[in-house]
Amino acid sequence: MNGISLILEFKENLNKKELVGTKCRACGSTSVYPNFHCRKCGNTSFEKVKFSGKGTLITYTILHAVPSGFKENSPLVIGLVELEEGGRISAQLDVSEDELSVGKKLEAIFQERDGRILLRFKLLGGI
Ligand SMILES: [Zn+2]
Repeated sequence: MNGISLILEFKENLNKKELVGTKCRACGSTSVYPNFHCRKCGNTSFEKVKFSGKGTLITYTILHAVPSGFKENSPLVIGLVELEEGGRISAQLDVSEDELSVGKKLEAIFQERDGRILLRFKLLGGI
């Protein structure tokens, strides 16, 4: 499988509102992003793993000067989330500034926008 088909497959799964990544057959390390080789051990054999979308906030940043197309989301909160199954992903957070803190439990939501599916995270069990 080449790089483009790996990325297309990731995007297809996202459009189906599924977070599917890889698990290394040698060391068991997981990654939500498509990889050619395991970042931990270098192995090139993977199995697919479906992520629950639940995870923990590792760090975040708040952007007050937002790119065009995101003005209605200002300020824009971007977080790095460690997923329950392992692997980290960065995405926009639908979490208000006063509820933000490292270590918060989050869950993925899939939002449709202009015919595309965007991955975001909200507080686990939150609205
Ligand atoms: Zn590995």
